[in-house]
Amino acid sequence: MRRTRQTRVTVETHRLVTLRQRQSGSPAWCQECATQVQMLEPEQAAAVAGVSCRTIYRWVEAERVHFVEDAGGRILICLNSLFDKSKGKLKT
Ligand SMILES: [Zn+2]
Repeated sequence: MRRTRQTRVTVETHRLVTLRQRQSGSPAWCQECATQVQMLEPEQAAAVAGVSCRTIYRWVEAERVHFVEDAGGRILICLNSLFDKSKGKLKT
């Protein structure tokens, strides 16, 4: 009797983006948008746009996204500009 071995490989990819808003935090003012927007840390921005942190920093350096620098020298990226940016950038 011959036995057939079957191997099935299933690859599932899930991407879950959870943004935790700081309780005390309020949206910050974006000068470019001239309105209150949600500002994201580079790691969060990368998750939202589906790119690497490095890409986010590249966009910041090229001023392709709106950003502010907080008192601690930390860069925060404007969520609005990020969506505009990722529109034509998402591969799916
Ligand atoms: Zn903005």
